[in-house]
Amino acid sequence: MNIFAVLPAAGCGSRTGLKKNKILHPVGGIPILRRTVDAFYRHEAITKIVLAVNPAEKEEIRSMLAQYREKILFAEGGNTRTESVKNALERIAAQDPIPDYVLIHDAARPFVTKKILDDCIATVLSHGSAVCALPCTDTLVCAEFGMISRQYDRTTAYTLQTPQGFTFSDLLLAYRNISPEQNFTDDSGVYAKYIAPPFLFQGDPCNRKITFSEDFRMNEYRTGIGIDTHAFGSDKNYILLGGVKIPSERGLVAHSDGDVLVHAVMDALLSAAGLRDIGCYFPDTDPAYQDADSLALLEKVAALLSEKGYTVTNISAAIVAERPKLAPHIDAMKKNIAAALNLAADQIGISAGTNEKLGFLGRGEGITVTANALLRTIG
Ligand code: MG
Repeated sequence: MNIFAVLPAAGCGSRTGLKKNKILHPVGGIPILRRTVDAFYRHEAITKIVLAVNPAEKEEIRSMLAQYREKILFAEGGNTRTESVKNALERIAAQDPIPDYVLIHDAARPFVTKKILDDCIATVLSHGSAVCALPCTDTLVCAEFGMISRQYDRTTAYTLQTPQGFTFSDLLLAYRNISPEQNFTDDSGVYAKYIAPPFLFQGDPCNRKITFSEDFRMNEYRTGIGIDTHAFGSDKNYILLGGVKIPSERGLVAHSDGDVLVHAVMDALLSAAGLRDIGCYFPDTDPAYQDADSLALLEKVAALLSEKGYTVTNISAAIVAERPKLAPHIDAMKKNIAAALNLAADQIGISAGTNEKLGFLGRGEGITVTANALLRTIG
């Protein structure tokens, strides 16, 4: 069994408001086209991926997809989707041997899953056609002049996605019947007109098409961890944790204000964003950070995150200290950290415990904090 995939990739993406072909733009840091090609490349049943591309973009696409090259063939993109698919099918028809089946997929649906491809292949193998479809869950109406003119029965209504799979020779025949002025929005329409009513299989709402600019703001989540330890040893009679001054027999040794909680939180945030640690941004060899107010540095970290397009979902920190007693101060710490990051206090979780008298923490020689942060892309 030989299965090819066709990705019409020559669209101009006018609805996204972008100047360049939308599929060359990244979503969550990876170009849309590369995400889509990757899904097909990894599927063991798919032997070749035919990309119908605009000749002006071919070199850029070729280098973007260099790692997938042994499975890729190029065809010339047309002015319409129908033309692009037709060119790709003719390119395949010139191959020896020709494939048994072909799956056509919108290059702008980068979230296609292995399960969707498996289901498409299973359906096309048993029925000769396989159209990815979602039952309509919203009320479906027809409107004219801004008013509802007709209501559809949604129990028999579906929205169609891709992939759509067909016996290759049938789809080629159907496309060879199309006259130049005919345009179809997908391949199920071509197959239905010239071959037979195509079969449906259940799609997935996650397999959405990137159409408008807001679709680019994918919710990408990233976690980060930060750990910091400071030793007791200064002659201060307090420590600072989360910006709260807590009476203590001894202070913590530090170049800055020694706020070990805020330091761990900053490292967790920077790490989640893929940035270097606080030692890099605020070196303790720099006199500027002598007795530095760690909450002010936390505000700077917040600015770095927002520059990178991230917002904080939540922070969770665990303080390990034999003494002093921290429970009465936790709410004030949460409030300070939340304020520095422009968050609500319940987005910050802080627990405090002892080390059961074990090790350096148990002997009361210092305090360690471990913090986790979860970031998401703004949007
Ligand atoms: Mg530190």
